[in-house]
Amino acid sequence: MADQLEEIKRKIDIVEFISSFVPLKKTGRNFKALCPFHSETIPSFIVSPERQIWHCFGACNEGGDIFKFLMKIENLEFGEALRELAKRAGVKLTRFKPSESEKQKQLLYEINHLAAEFYHYLLLNHSVGRQALRYILGRGISKPSLQLFKLGFAPNTWESLQKFLVGKKGYNPQDLEKAGLVIKSEKKAGFYDRFRSRLIFPLKDHRGNICGFAGRVLDPEAKEAKYINTPETLIYHKSDLLYGLFETHQEIKRVDGVVLVEGELDAISSFQTGVKNVVAIKGSALTPNQVQLLSRFTKDISLALDRDIAGD
Ligand code: ZN
Repeated sequence: MADQLEEIKRKIDIVEFISSFVPLKKTGRNFKALCPFHSETIPSFIVSPERQIWHCFGACNEGGDIFKFLMKIENLEFGEALRELAKRAGVKLTRFKPSESEKQKQLLYEINHLAAEFYHYLLLNHSVGRQALRYILGRGISKPSLQLFKLGFAPNTWESLQKFLVGKKGYNPQDLEKAGLVIKSEKKAGFYDRFRSRLIFPLKDHRGNICGFAGRVLDPEAKEAKYINTPETLIYHKSDLLYGLFETHQEIKRVDGVVLVEGELDAISSFQTGVKNVVAIKGSALTPNQVQLLSRFTKDISLALDRDIAGD
């Protein structure tokens, strides 16, 4: 294991790596930047290419190697950072035991990924999704956009998803509950699907992991809530997520600016008409975590919110 850590460190240059997150300036033998981990106006964050380490001489006094940096900036566990960097370095990991909570997270990502595939298939290829498909195409969302953002349809049944994930794929219903996909029944034993008769938007983090889902009713006159979302889980934190960021972050970086809209459909519409540097927030709450995440790609944020009280 130690050999592999060294191999990864050898293959990834720390200056190049950290500058993909924060702009570094050369100063003598080192590089410096405003510390990404605390707020400051005079740079005290130093990267040493010779020693392949970083250190903040300011308030947070943190430091370490590429692993520590990635863990801190992406809020990852060691194993997650290790896998990511191994992939980047082209190093195949031979022996590595993930922690319990990391295993849990991976399992939930895996379940969500399959659920997204299932919903997506139903929307595009199954008669049960035909009406939903007609609706969403009628709203002006194109087929390539549906595919890029992996929209789906959850049918009006209580157990379709469970039949697929538990019956066919062999996952256990308790783990589906932990992913927020099913709800424990109060009347009888077992669980029922959370999302029913809804258009499904997978919610990805900026690295492309599917953390949760938003489900939108098709019928505008429906009595139920227009949107329901995955509740807070081990991997889904509403206040951290920016919809679309995975698909749009390259463009945000390229044009050095982002347009912030409300709601998934607004983001997709904007994207397909050519304004691709866009992300959506849920409702109208923009949190410090979201701003911090965005600021890694650009400092230039434009708000394009609804002209209502929430938007104000
Ligand atoms: Zn600092």
